[in-house]
This record gives sequence, C-alpha cells and structure tokens, in this order.
Amino acid sequence: MIYLTAPLALEVADQQALQAIQQQVNNEIDYSTRVSQANQRWKTKPVALFQRVRTALESTCPGARRCGYCEDSLADEIEHIRPKSWFPELSFDPNNYLFACGPCNGPKNNSYAVVDATGVLTEAIRSIHQAVEPPPAGKEALLHPRHDNAIDYFFLDLENTFQFKPHLTLDTQQKVRAEYTLKVLRINKDPLCVARKEAFYDFVSRMKSYYLAMKSDESLNNLTRYRSELLQKQHISVWREMQRQSISLPFLRELFALVPTAISW
Ligand SMILES: [Zn+2]
Repeated sequence: MIYLTAPLALEVADQQALQAIQQQVNNEIDYSTRVSQANQRWKTKPVALFQRVRTALESTCPGARRCGYCEDSLADEIEHIRPKSWFPELSFDPNNYLFACGPCNGPKNNSYAVVDATGVLTEAIRSIHQAVEPPPAGKEALLHPRHDNAIDYFFLDLENTFQFKPHLTLDTQQKVRAEYTLKVLRINKDPLCVARKEAFYDFVSRMKSYYLAMKSDESLNNLTRYRSELLQKQHISVWREMQRQSISLPFLRELFALVPTAISW
C-alpha cells in the first residue's frame, strides 16, 4: 500500500467544483438522504472534471499507473478510501480518493470497521431491512493511505514468503488494524507475493548495474536516470523494505555497501 503524503494536485477551479457537488450532498438534512444523494451524484458526476481527477490520481500511482493498494495491477477505478455509502460527506473529497485496480476495489467494496483499544473489531453492517444509519464511531480498522504509513504496521518477509506481516511490536489495536487490512485488501494473495519476489530481484539487479555504472565512471546524467528509473518501478514498497532491512539482512547489507547512497534514495 502506498503512502499518500501530498494533497491531490488539482486546479483550484476543479477543487471548487468538487466542493460544490459535495455541498449539495451535505445540504440534505438527514443522513439517509445524504447517502442516497452521494450515490446518485456519483453516478452522474461530470465526465470532464473526473477525467482531470483521474489524471491527478495517476500521478500518485507507483510504476506505470499501478494500484495504490496492491502496487501491481493497472489502476482504473476511483476508490473511496472511506466508502461513500458510509461517509457521504466524503464522496467528493479528493483526499478520500485512491486510484485502485478492480481486484482490490471490488472485494473491499463498502467494507468498513472500527476497532477499540482492546482490539475488539466492530464491522459496519447495513441490512436492506434496516434504517440507513451512520457507521459505528471509533478508530477505523482499515489502514488509511493518507494517515497511516503501511511500513509502520507491516514488515515484508524478504527471505522466504514475500508476504507482509504485522510488526511484532504493534499494540493490540494496531495489530487488529494490520490484520484487518491484510484480509480486506488480500495483500498476501499468491500472485502478489510472486510479483514482489520478481520486483525484489529486479531491484537487486538494478543496484548491481548502478554499481557497475559508477565503477565505469558513467556520466552523472546516466546515474541520475538509473536511480530515477528504479524509483519509478511498481512494488516500491519492496524497495523501501530492502532499504529498511539492509541493516539486519547480511545479503542486503552487502548490496547496499556497493552503493551506500541508495539507503536514502
Ligand atoms: Zn490493486
């Protein structure tokens, strides 16, 4: 999962256009009507405006427009990080958007849960026979790509499985959030672990090529380009883990000793 640190880069006019639609949703007096209005206005959202939103979201993606959750598949769906069916007041907030792939966005769908300090998870459930009520209050269970840096919750097993696993140092609430995120986003499904392993070997290979280029006194321009190409690859979380674990894993320590500056790329 990528970590989004900057607001979505939209022109002021586009931000205002989104705010205007959002205000129309928010003007509805009761929550239930706001939910139905958010869904209705989402279905009829302005095409040109949302083409520009998609372009802005694309610039936040790892690799060649890869999904912000799995970092692997083509991102082609505007995902509401907090589902609009639970948070209509965020349905046109660009900071609630993430560019995601269908296989991530589909299963996540309207999933929302909160977790208390003792680790008790409460899922938001809405039956068609019940009144439309807001979700339970409390700390959201799913890690939020704008508020939570996944690297603080997971470590990647670079030696064997290439699965993300919760840090052993997490407190109870953090651990439940990490496990819930792994489950809802299916972060450790087989093809993703294989893809991470391939990305790992690609990063290793690029590091070795960079080292050889340094030794051959290639131009600074070339070196800058090699570094930039590495950082634009998908599965950038694998690279971040390689940097972090270069202290503890001997084979990574040796690799980063070849190009010491790469520890802070
Ligand atoms: Zn995905």
